[in-house]
Amino acid sequence: MDKEGHKYIFVIGGVMSGVGKGVVTSSMGLILQSKGYPVNLVKVDPYLNVDAGTMNPTEHGETFVLKSGLETDQDMGNYERFLGRDLTSDDYMTSGMVYQTVIERERALKYGGKCVEAIPHVRDEIIRRVEAAASYNGSRLSVIEIGGTVGDFQNALFMEAARVMKMRMPNDVLFVMVSYLPVPGTLGEMKSKPTQNAVRDLNSYGIQPDFLIARAPHPLDDKRKEKLAVACSVPPDHVISAPDIKSIYDAPLNFENDRLGDMLLGALKLPAKKSSGLAAWRNFVKRINTAKKEVKIAIVGKYFDTGDYVLSDAYLSVIEAIKFSSAALNVKPAITWINAKHFETGKAKVAMLSQFDGVIVPGGFGESGIEGKIKAIEYARTRKIPYFGLCYGMQLMTVEYARNVVGMKGANTMEIDIKTPYPVVAVMEDQKEKIKDGKMGGTMRLGTYPAYLKKGSIARAAYKQEMVQERHRHRYEINDHYVPELEKAGLVFSGTSPDRSLMEIAELPKSVHPFMLGTQFHPELQARPLTPHPLFTEFIKTAIAKKK
Ligand code: GLN
Repeated sequence: MDKEGHKYIFVIGGVMSGVGKGVVTSSMGLILQSKGYPVNLVKVDPYLNVDAGTMNPTEHGETFVLKSGLETDQDMGNYERFLGRDLTSDDYMTSGMVYQTVIERERALKYGGKCVEAIPHVRDEIIRRVEAAASYNGSRLSVIEIGGTVGDFQNALFMEAARVMKMRMPNDVLFVMVSYLPVPGTLGEMKSKPTQNAVRDLNSYGIQPDFLIARAPHPLDDKRKEKLAVACSVPPDHVISAPDIKSIYDAPLNFENDRLGDMLLGALKLPAKKSSGLAAWRNFVKRINTAKKEVKIAIVGKYFDTGDYVLSDAYLSVIEAIKFSSAALNVKPAITWINAKHFETGKAKVAMLSQFDGVIVPGGFGESGIEGKIKAIEYARTRKIPYFGLCYGMQLMTVEYARNVVGMKGANTMEIDIKTPYPVVAVMEDQKEKIKDGKMGGTMRLGTYPAYLKKGSIARAAYKQEMVQERHRHRYEINDHYVPELEKAGLVFSGTSPDRSLMEIAELPKSVHPFMLGTQFHPELQARPLTPHPLFTEFIKTAIAKKK
């Protein structure tokens, strides 16, 4: 594709991490798209991991799996949810990926005997990737978020790549700095100095920001706006106030109140187009903010604690999927995190689950907390509390059924117990070799695969389709050796791979339980604000019905 005239907006963080660069990037994407410009969003993660799949979720939040199977940062999930479309592998890069390409090229003698160096070789590989992402389906604009904060050693080469792109295409590249203005408790006054210093740091890379997004607990007053504009040489109307908000989905609407979209287009000299606008989005946000009736959902998991803090980021897409379906049904979700280990140690009793309208066991790995999860599943099954199992949650639902209904004492997944007498969940055939060779990064069953749905099942009724495409991330699967016995005892495998060898959905008939369903895939990865996921919607619907 001809990339002539393609525009690039780099989003760079100042002062500290975690102030919402991802939400700013997603919002700009949605706004520009709503103004008639197909947008491409790109995430740059400066760490050396080749993808986000090898990190513990308590380190870095959820691993978001793209349609292609690439394991990426959770920001990619927000990008897809705001844009309302799938992103591709080109839209994500880490330093590890960039270096891997350069080193592989060097090993193949592709540098013609030259000394291979950070500049120009690594830098140019970054630029090549940014430009490759720009070729998406006629998009005119890319918004590229550089992870981390200005001044980090790790992202210096990405800054340099961005500087060089600006130098080559002065009219086509913009810089947006997302910074933070603290209000120290002892002073009670909003301070702009850290942001001024961050801009100076950015200047030292040869980059001048065109816009400043000022994140702060409160809106920015005129005095500070003026001060930032003067000190950082940014036009006052390019200093955008971004106070804390209730929901990230409010962000694009707030930015639009400040006419951010028109100003970005103006700065890029792109004409305003007749646009679809944000009406549907506005409607969705209104529903989120006005729903009153509560539906209480328990998430029984394990990746919650980081030091003294509780982190729900590990299950970000699950939470968002619950929100979208709840908004569609006009209810407000109240989500409670339950550490599965507490059901094992006695710190919490499973009977406490009776106060919830629905229980979710999300994806997970390893031994920790699984007996607690199995107890929770048994409780949900026997008390007829709507239950939704996601990946590990489906595998453990099958283990529970095997143990407590079929009578397979000691049944387990081979991930935990390789000597179990009933390995109802077993390692996938093609995984054995990979595990033996220690080839663990990016080798799970990843990305989108089709599943066929059984007539008359809950899944089929919810999807209203015979075939669905869903995203996966697992090494283990339901052991087909035990399928006939499990089915005889009442468990229904209502979704299977086209050749019927892989069980993709398990459920109990509605006559036995209102909603007891697990998926081998991760439906939460495809739930979007304007198109909630049918299985989540069905789950929330039965949770509301239980309430009555
Ligand atoms: N640990 C399980 C497996 O590898 C489930 C993975 C998951 O929940 N994503 O199959």
